[in-house]
Amino acid sequence: MKGWSGKLLRVDLTRGKCVVEEYPAELAMRFIGGRGFAIKILWNELPPGTDPLSPENLLILAAGPLTGYPIPSSGKLVIASKSPLTGGYGDGNVGTRAAVQLRRCSLDAVIIKGKAPKPSYLLIEDGRCEVRDAGDLWGLDAFKAEDRLLEEHGREAGVLLIGPSGENRVLISTIVSQRGRAGGRPGMGAVMGSKNLKAIVFRGGKEPEAADPGRLRELGREAYRAITEKPNYEFWRRQGTMATIEWCQENSTLPTYNFREGVFDEADGISGTTMEKMVVKQRGCPHCNMICGNIIEDAKGVESELDYENVAMLGSNIGVGDLREVAVLNRMCDELGLDTISTGSAIGFAMEAAERGLLDIDITWGDYKGAKRLLEDIAYRRGEIGGLLSLGVREAAERLGDGAPDFAIHVKGLECSAYDCHLCPGMALSFGTSPIGAHHKDAWVISWEISSGRRAEYIPEKADKVIEFQRIRGGMFECLVTCRLPWIELGFELDWYPRFLEAAAGVSMSLEELLALGDRVYALIRAFWVREYGGRWSRRMDYPPRRWFEEPLTRGPLKGSHLDYDGYDRLLQAYYDKRGWDERGIPTRETFKRLGLEAEARELEGFVELH
Ligand code: SF4
Repeated sequence: MKGWSGKLLRVDLTRGKCVVEEYPAELAMRFIGGRGFAIKILWNELPPGTDPLSPENLLILAAGPLTGYPIPSSGKLVIASKSPLTGGYGDGNVGTRAAVQLRRCSLDAVIIKGKAPKPSYLLIEDGRCEVRDAGDLWGLDAFKAEDRLLEEHGREAGVLLIGPSGENRVLISTIVSQRGRAGGRPGMGAVMGSKNLKAIVFRGGKEPEAADPGRLRELGREAYRAITEKPNYEFWRRQGTMATIEWCQENSTLPTYNFREGVFDEADGISGTTMEKMVVKQRGCPHCNMICGNIIEDAKGVESELDYENVAMLGSNIGVGDLREVAVLNRMCDELGLDTISTGSAIGFAMEAAERGLLDIDITWGDYKGAKRLLEDIAYRRGEIGGLLSLGVREAAERLGDGAPDFAIHVKGLECSAYDCHLCPGMALSFGTSPIGAHHKDAWVISWEISSGRRAEYIPEKADKVIEFQRIRGGMFECLVTCRLPWIELGFELDWYPRFLEAAAGVSMSLEELLALGDRVYALIRAFWVREYGGRWSRRMDYPPRRWFEEPLTRGPLKGSHLDYDGYDRLLQAYYDKRGWDERGIPTRETFKRLGLEAEARELEGFVELH
């Protein structure tokens, strides 16, 4: 098998044992890699009802058949687990040398279970794997710990690690790499911390073999050139995702004051244009010529890598309009291992709770110093309020009561990423049906929705568009494990990907076949959620936050706008119908059969009746 190494590494931290094993070719053919591998492994191997922070939970790192080859934006891997934040399927992708080095170790995936008896890290080198003592790394921030590991194992090593928040099992912790790359929003850092695992270091010496190396090299060269020739390339290189601040402000979708509003008076202070004047350098993921990490320095010369999501959530969403201050908060999150989106949401939630007299804390909108203190309190679970917010906004709101769930901005327990949807029903559906909770990764339809001229409407075409994007972004890209941004931002054509796959793996699949793969992966992820939630599962799980329906915008050109319950419900039903899911949002028996998931359907029938 070319393209795939055909091997995965199993690590049992409790026993200190590592085993390399071959996996069946059928797994590669039916689930491709990345997210596809992760959900299939979780479905098969994780006992239903497992406590996500127990040793029994699995932490999975999975590359895809394009990872690590010299083709655009292929330096990524998927991190997945049962989420301690949502209780369902959780994953994220991260662009990192670790992805490239994993493949240079002749591995496609790593499955980690158990719990090390003391703080440890994993050293994976070619065919060897060793559990090492991490006593002197535990407690260090993610930057310092990575520096130490690189000093010891060489600068070319790939490192995934957690900061203190992951060690403290803060449920909004991610896994970090290369000073600012992070992935696994739904608490993957807490899962790693619960296993006493500080870091994973990869060092490999063997390039992944390709079916047709000459053709792959040639395609790669052509593809890199095609990207640089795209009309938007130069602008993208200047601003990356940061141009979105101005676009969201113009369109009243910039999350402001805990998603109460879609416009922010100080948006200019945190915009891409402002950032352009401050950038000192840029950083990107391996094998990428789009290099979208823009780095600015704070007043003390400390660097911070910015992108749209973290600036909006740690800026307008909490009322901070100074980009250098946002940069400090962002850097703190990266060092401590906190997810920037969820942290911005938790701080915004706390500011609003304080304003309403529900939380006894001295903090107001735009209070940068208060936000800094709170951020540290969350990472170290310090005090009652730090401890409460470390659970994420859903749980914090439920514990607070007194109307707090009305302004906890999440879907299925995952805090919403940075798009206000008071007047974007299609994007609200995207958040509602995302397979990990409210994240924009799978179906970023907001740009299409606004430019369609039918923004306020609840038309079935919006459900179609969400599914189309989920198949491309959440299915194909997450399974091949390459970055979606060349396609969505620059219009790099999708038909490159079947060609890459053929040259890398010798497998001929049409684009439609690759996209259809996403349907299988989505159905299995949905089955996983239903299995884990059992009788608690309902159609309401696919609803966006109450605020967008019940509290209209009070400012800006869209003042008075809000979502409509009946309209959203119709849209959701159109989505279910198109996917072949029943009125509860569960794939029907027929759909499971069509997708070749009969065995999984039979297992699911032990938990819920299928229609
Ligand atoms: S476009 Fe940005 S996120 Fe995507 S691979 Fe390149 S540097 Fe990484």
